Amino acid sequence: MVKETGLYDLLGVAPDATAEELKRAYRRLAMKHHPDKNEGSIEADAKFKELANAYNILTDKRELYDQYGQEGLEQGGGGGGGGMGAEDLFAQFFGGGGGGGGGGFGGMFGGGGGGMREQGPKKARTIHHVHKVSLEDVYRGKVSKLALQKSIICPKCDGRGGKEGAVKTCAGCNGQGMKTMMRQMGPMIQRFQTVCPDCSGEGETIREKDKCKQCHGKKTIVERKVLHVHVDKGVQSGTKLDFRGEGDQMPGVQPGDVQFEIEQKPHPRFQRKGDDLFYHAEIDLLTALAGGAIYVEHLDERWLTVEIMPGEVIANGEIKVIRGQGMPSYRHHDFGNLYVQFEVKFPDRITGPPDSDGYPTAMTEAQVKALESVLPPRKPQNIPPPDAMTEDYSLEKVDPTQEGGRARGATGEDDEDEMGAGGERVQCASQ
Ligand SMILES: [Zn+2]
Ligand SMILES: [Zn+2]
Repeated sequence: MVKETGLYDLLGVAPDATAEELKRAYRRLAMKHHPDKNEGSIEADAKFKELANAYNILTDKRELYDQYGQEGLEQGGGGGGGGMGAEDLFAQFFGGGGGGGGGGFGGMFGGGGGGMREQGPKKARTIHHVHKVSLEDVYRGKVSKLALQKSIICPKCDGRGGKEGAVKTCAGCNGQGMKTMMRQMGPMIQRFQTVCPDCSGEGETIREKDKCKQCHGKKTIVERKVLHVHVDKGVQSGTKLDFRGEGDQMPGVQPGDVQFEIEQKPHPRFQRKGDDLFYHAEIDLLTALAGGAIYVEHLDERWLTVEIMPGEVIANGEIKVIRGQGMPSYRHHDFGNLYVQFEVKFPDRITGPPDSDGYPTAMTEAQVKALESVLPPRKPQNIPPPDAMTEDYSLEKVDPTQEGGRARGATGEDDEDEMGAGGERVQCASQ
């Protein structure tokens, strides 16, 4: 009894076909599907190669295939390694090239499957689950209780599916689960494989009245299991936590594993890089120049008060660090740093006291003097030589709704897609 008949079916022969029958079948089909006879047909080309592959295997590795099927070929001998390419094989049949194809098959695998038995018992698939956690949870660490639906061996029938002795090998397919059927198509008899209708591919039958009452003959039942997943302090996104043997159970195979992958959700205040945290702080110009405080709400309900000293001067975009206030490092006892990047908000304008109608006036001379007294002196740039012709101008505000792309292009602030923005900049520059 062969394990599977796919390659025989492809060549349209019975699994007990002789080498001569295989040769004839291949010859006939290879002629029919040769790419030259089916101009440009990708399907014919694929079929042609498939046929050659099937023939190669059934001449070189027939014993291996019969015993272990396609799977055995993949694990045993690195695919169709020793076989001939489709065109070479075809040429050998029809072009008269070196004779004697396909002698002495099975020699290599005569011992009965080589390394096949070294491979451990089969194992049920691993259940993967992405466990999303907040940055707060990673900061403090926690144990998540996660419920999982899994198949377990039916405890009532011990995975047999029915009473002891009630489970019979299916007579329709000899326990294979698959059946080769034959169909008359005109003068030809076509053979094809189908799932055995008697046992629905199970390879076994149990009489209805003997079926296990708990699993209804399915051998497994679904169970809800709660697993305790330790989200350790400082664990990194992408860390995988394995629960060996906690996955699905099936009769005759090792239970599968469950694997959780920690994925840290984005945080509204902090960005994390390794053990460090990054925080964006907006401050006003007065705080940046004359000092003040910022407050950072941390991940464990503490608030950090951060003092900015008068005259320390924080530049727009400047990054400062608060040491030891980042994330706890995974399985160590130290902490990363907290980096604060400042965005200094300039006032729209500085005005003097309101006039008699309540409108703000320009800065007074005293106000300007006060600023001049604390800020470094003006350093005019690019002063024209004394004999240059100069003209006086004043600046006007830009109304973006009026000047549209030109003003945006000039300031570089625009949210349009790159193509559009680039086009506008080119236009602007060439004016
Ligand atoms: Zn069957
Ligand atoms: Zn049962």
